Amino acid sequence: LFKFEVTILGCSSATPIFNRHPTSQWVHINHTHILLDCGEGTQMQIMRYGLKASKLSYIFISHLHGDHYLGLMGLLSSMNLNGRTDPLNLFAPLELEDILQQHFRVSESELKYPLHFFPVNHEPENLTDNVLVETQDFRVSKIPLKHSIACNGFLIEEKPGPQKISKETMDTYSIPYDALAGIKKGQSFIQADGTEISADRLLEPKRIPRSYAFCSDTCYLPELKGLLNHVNILYHETTFGHSFLSRAEQTYHTTAFQAAQLAKDAEVGKLLMGHFSARYKDLNPLLEEAKEIFPESYLALEGQTFSI
Ligand SMILES: [Zn+2]
Ligand SMILES: [Zn+2]
Repeated sequence: LFKFEVTILGCSSATPIFNRHPTSQWVHINHTHILLDCGEGTQMQIMRYGLKASKLSYIFISHLHGDHYLGLMGLLSSMNLNGRTDPLNLFAPLELEDILQQHFRVSESELKYPLHFFPVNHEPENLTDNVLVETQDFRVSKIPLKHSIACNGFLIEEKPGPQKISKETMDTYSIPYDALAGIKKGQSFIQADGTEISADRLLEPKRIPRSYAFCSDTCYLPELKGLLNHVNILYHETTFGHSFLSRAEQTYHTTAFQAAQLAKDAEVGKLLMGHFSARYKDLNPLLEEAKEIFPESYLALEGQTFSI
């Protein structure tokens, strides 16, 4: 089983307050490091928690509100100054490309590493086939959210990987190594006495791929329950408590109660709550509100790492 975990770098909405930073998360999946959103101060948070920006190969930006991308210019520049040469893949709304180019032009700075920009458009009705990246190990798709401006969440799914045969099984049935490839392709194994054993009986059960969903800024979207069904961890913004429902609706945000309801309906493993309003110094009332609906609710506090 390879490593699949998320470290929270920022959990505040809008402005930094109470020592909370705007949104950013670091996902480590096998040998790949991914940044989800890059609020102001993200590069400092990366250093604070002992992570290395040089290891990043993907950055995904959900939308162009400042609290989700204003840390990007600094991070990209520092990687340049630190001598990065590895390519970096940036997935973001199209307009970000202009903003970045404008900055690099007026500052007369040129990146010495390839920055591959992939525009991510917003298709609100499209709930399937939204794959952005597919590698041997994982797949990243966009999740169409509904916010005051175009906004996408991201779903990171592990791939099932090849089925294995245990050493014990090999000994029990005296399977030679050169028969392994065939069995893994589904061929039966014929023992010395002619007994045929189907591949199903020899192979270990298929691993259920793990998944992580990142729903940054959005109003409550109960229709996402199909897409989010059984994800291991759902991060969902919970900007307000339910007593501020009308405020949440006006600003296209979600309450703790609503996020917990979605987590329950989608039967996810855990709910991570974040993007907290400056209204809440103490976050426990939000946590209590969510736990009443969905007990496996957790605050996405900065510096915490959750295993997926
Ligand atoms: Zn935000
Ligand atoms: Zn926003």
